[in-house]
Amino acid sequence: MTTRPHAAAPAVDDTPALRLPAITVDCPACGAPAGALCTSHSGTRQRRYDVHRARTAAHANAQH
Ligand SMILES: [Zn+2]
Repeated sequence: MTTRPHAAAPAVDDTPALRLPAITVDCPACGAPAGALCTSHSGTRQRRYDVHRARTAAHANAQH
């Protein structure tokens, strides 16, 4: 049984962005689905430390 981490499920300890509340909503800026990291540079780079401002705003707007 392999313990190799899957690219779609990065370790939270290594990926602070996964702790952000905004990760639970889709990102309107880059199109990342809920639970997935934001991407930059046309999806070639994952944003492990933060999410797009628009995503934070979308999450805030969902908290009615
Ligand atoms: Zn994004």
